[in-house]
Order: sequence, then structure tokens, then C-alpha cells
Amino acid sequence: MNIIVTGGAGFIGANFVYYMLKKRPEDKIICFDKLTYAGNMETLAEAMKNDKFRFVRGDIADRKAVYKLFETEKPDIVVNFAAESHVDRSIENPEIFLQTNVIGTSVLLDACRRYGIDRYHQVSTDEVYGDLPLDRPDLFFTETTNLHTSSPYSASKASADLLVMAYHRTYKVPVTISRCSNNYGPFHFPEKLIPLMIINALADKKLPVYGDGLNVRDWLFVEDHCAAINLILEKGKVGEVYNIGGHNERANIDVVKTILNQLGKVEGLIEYVGDRKGHDRRYAIDPTKIHEELGWLPETKFEDGIKATVQWYLDNRQWWENIISGEYKDYYDRMYTKK
Ligand code: NAD
Repeated sequence: MNIIVTGGAGFIGANFVYYMLKKRPEDKIICFDKLTYAGNMETLAEAMKNDKFRFVRGDIADRKAVYKLFETEKPDIVVNFAAESHVDRSIENPEIFLQTNVIGTSVLLDACRRYGIDRYHQVSTDEVYGDLPLDRPDLFFTETTNLHTSSPYSASKASADLLVMAYHRTYKVPVTISRCSNNYGPFHFPEKLIPLMIINALADKKLPVYGDGLNVRDWLFVEDHCAAINLILEKGKVGEVYNIGGHNERANIDVVKTILNQLGKVEGLIEYVGDRKGHDRRYAIDPTKIHEELGWLPETKFEDGIKATVQWYLDNRQWWENIISGEYKDYYDRMYTKK
């Protein structure tokens, strides 16, 4: 099979590329990525050595480029990870979020109906459901929870989900959607909570924590997310939404303290800063459907996953130091454009 992975130079997309190269060695994996600030060819360096892998640079919102990609690669499956993904950046500048997350998704769907496809899978987020109160631990997001977004990021992701379902109903495009909780693991861009805290702690810099630090997120090790998506491709029912989460809710401040503890650093490094605008209080996913219908369960305990992640950042200093210093922006041209 030919599988296009859009956004495969980013955090989860790249982990998915590696997962699929290992899990489905017969299949061809084609990464299509614009290489925004969040895309990184260094992350794909190992994949570039595999002859079942191909990288194509391009924008999912560029219709001509996407149609050319479909004509050349003849995909059986498209998994769309490509997105502007950082809530804080969406608050600063929403427009690019609409362009990539909404228009980009519509262009991919148009390509699917024009050229035909076995499956289009949309990688979505639990943030489309809005948030839950801290004092109702009995409440969880299910697949039938109303969409109720808080940030321009989540509004753009929810819009994309609606389009995906509309293309299924109107044009019979064979789609599935997954909505996952917060991921953590290797190759996570340094602007996100866990890598930011690890990197600052290593440099004995202050660890900025929003508000009172009590906002709760449901954390899932990235490889468990990849396994769930592959299972949806293999066994999921077309036209369905699957929530993915590990019942692993943690207050941000507890996650930060766990990291400090792992690194043997003092809690005095924590610095509370002004809260994010519209900051969602609690996300909590109910993954019963994917568990009961497809047999998926997460395999990584948070204690093990966070240990492995901290170790990965210790072992791969060059990867994040290059990002921080901005050198990685030149990497693609230096390494790959003349090939
Ligand atoms: P990321 O920001 O690390 O990576 C995004 C990738 O998409 C980058 O490689 C970037 O270059 C590429 N990209 C951006 N705009 C593009 C465009 N117009 N055309 C082609 N490529 C483009 O994001 P991530 O954290 O890996 O998230 C991947 C997907 O998973 C997103 O759709 C996100 O909404 C979703 N998601 C993320 C999480 C999480 O915890 N990170 C949780 C649930 C869902």
C-alpha cells in the first residue's frame, strides 16, 4: 500500500512514520510536509535511509501541489497530521490556523474524492470538546460530546472534523477521525509543556507555569497514539470517530514536579506566570469505544513514559539545541534539496 502521512516531519507524524516503517515494512510511506517552524528534517534522518520512505515538501493548502502528489504517489491511504498545532500561537495569529487546518484539510479531501482513496484519516484532538470543570471528575468526553471550542486552534480543528464528516456524507469519501488527548515523547517541539520544562530544568532556568498550575491534561505516550491510529486504519469503521486517551489525568504542576524530580532539580525553579487566555481547565477522554470495538489499550505507564522521554532529551541534546538556536532551518536545504 502507498500511505501518505502529511505533517510527518512534526512530533506525532514523525513518530507515526517510524511506527509504520516498523509495523508495515511492505508498505511505502510518503511524508508530505511544508516544513514550517515545527517540521524538522533532522527528525526524519533515519527514515530517509529507508527505501520504503519518501519525503515530499509541500503545503496541504496548495491544491496544485496536493493533486500532483496524488497523481505521482497514487495513495491508498492518507493520514493527515499536518496542522498548526500550538494554542498560544493561535491566540497570537489565528489566520494561518484556518489556512492550514481548515483549507488544507478541504484540499486533501477534494483530492481524495477526485482520485479515489481507500481511507482518509483525520488526526484530531480532544480540544474540540472544550473543557470540563475540575470539580466533576465523573465527566469525560465521549464521541457524542458536543463540539465546544475555546481557542482558534481548537475551533480550526473542529471545523476540519466537520468538513471530514460532510465529505463522507456528501461524497462518500471513506473517512475516519481520531480525537486524542495530549501526547508526549521523543521529537516533541521545545515550545510544548513537557520538553520546555525538561530543557529549562537542564539549564537551571525558571520553569514558567500558567495560572495556578492546576489545569488538568490527559497524557498519552506518543507510540500508543500511533498504535491506535494504525488499528483504526486496519479495523476502524468508515464514518466513525474514535476517542484516544489513557485515563491518565495530571495537573500541569504535578507533571512539572515529576520532571524536576527525575532530573534531581529543585522545585524552587517553578515560576507561576499569568494565565493563558481562555485556558481550558480540564480535558478527560473516555476511550471505551476504541477499547471495546477495536481492542486498543495504551501500553505505556506514565511513570515509564516520562522517564523514557526525559532520557531521550538527555541523549538527544543536539536535536533540541539545533532547534533552539534556529540552525535546523538551514538543515533541509543543506541536506536534501540538491539530492
Ligand atoms: P507539530 O506542530 O509538531 O507538527 C505539525 C507538522 O505539520 C509539522 O511538521 C509542520 O511542518 C507540518 N505542517 C504545518 N502546516 C502544514 C501545511 N500547510 N502543509 C503541510 N505540512 C504542514 O504537531 P503535532 O503535535 O505532531 O500534531 C500533529 C497532529 O496531531 C495535529 O493535527 C494536532 O492537531 C494533532 N494532535 C496533537 C496532539 C498533541 O498532544 N501534540 C494531541 C492530539 C492531536
